[in-house]
Amino acid sequence: MNDPILNDHPILADTFAPGEEHFDEYLKLWPRERREELASRATAADVRAALRKDVLHPEDFLALLSPAARPFLEDMAQRSREITLRFFGRAVNIFSPLYISDVCTNHCRYCGFNADNHQKRRHLSVDEAAAEAFALADAGIQHVLLLTGDARKVSSPQYIAEVAARIKPRFASVSVEVYSLTLEEYHLLMQNGVDSMTMFQETYNRELYEWLHPAGPKHDYLWRLNTPGRAAKAGLHGVGVGALLGLDEFIHDAFCTGLHAWWLQKHFPGTDIGLSVPRMCPHEGAFEVKHEVDDRTFVQYVAALRCFLPRCGITVSSRESADMRNHLVPIGVNRVSAGVSTAVGGRVVNAENSGQFDISDRRSVEQMTRDLAALGYQAVAKDWEGCDR
Ligand code: SF4
Repeated sequence: MNDPILNDHPILADTFAPGEEHFDEYLKLWPRERREELASRATAADVRAALRKDVLHPEDFLALLSPAARPFLEDMAQRSREITLRFFGRAVNIFSPLYISDVCTNHCRYCGFNADNHQKRRHLSVDEAAAEAFALADAGIQHVLLLTGDARKVSSPQYIAEVAARIKPRFASVSVEVYSLTLEEYHLLMQNGVDSMTMFQETYNRELYEWLHPAGPKHDYLWRLNTPGRAAKAGLHGVGVGALLGLDEFIHDAFCTGLHAWWLQKHFPGTDIGLSVPRMCPHEGAFEVKHEVDDRTFVQYVAALRCFLPRCGITVSSRESADMRNHLVPIGVNRVSAGVSTAVGGRVVNAENSGQFDISDRRSVEQMTRDLAALGYQAVAKDWEGCDR
């Protein structure tokens, strides 16, 4: 339920001017049946044609995600590698997530932090959050990603802003991965040093989404779907999107994720649009993954995204193994996390809670830097620094 103690969901009036397009309106042009039909009709010739183009259309992207592209995985990886080198060189940005609160009022069926899971919760004070962040800065991290659960009376926008303002002097970039905010709340974060945000839609299948999020503010599909556009409109430097692979059939969430990033690039050309590619992994709530994405399909996804969206940063998190991440960097991934803990506190502040999900790649910043160098890539702690906007 939407707990009034922890949460007071804002009035969800949207903030786009009359006549401005929202992504949900554009997505209606791509109903499931249309995606399914085009994907099933895609041929080897369509895939070859897509791989020869410099500028791809959504139909080309769909062909690269389709079963017809499976025999072309090597060609796709090769093409994707060339594009990545052209746009990003051999630089890979390293960042670290920092979980500052796992108090959450949502009931996401697949998440270890959900409100039904009566694990011990932890909410860091601003001082504690700063101490944790400074430990990351001491380890060489310059880009930090702040994460909270969805409990806006506990982890309020003001609290997140206060943490950001406190830690900003030690970081080149402070990003957030928190609940959906209003335009004014994104402005507040920006004024306090936040430059980027990521919002996972989890799945673009509305019916499935509403079942997966039965209660709590996250239940509102449209509010979440239009959040990245709202953040871009607020003027954030970076906006990231992603779906949690494994919830719906691969082709649908993979396509809609790319389409969402493509739409954002078109509507907000001055914003750095990014993509994350999480796959479901085991957690303590024992959620059954109905549409598991195998490794070949996962590589196909990253290569197809890179061909469709050459300028988009692509992040692969420590959910993936070190082997998989090493494999994906030359293909198209240019952002990786290192020194990751998904538990709140633990670096400096003692914490007894468990993390949101199991991680596979536990490499430290130094180890990641060494491993990237061995692959012929340079780990970049700081690739961007904001100025007052
Ligand atoms: S996925 Fe996020 S919003 Fe959902 S229960 Fe987990 S922490 Fe809360």
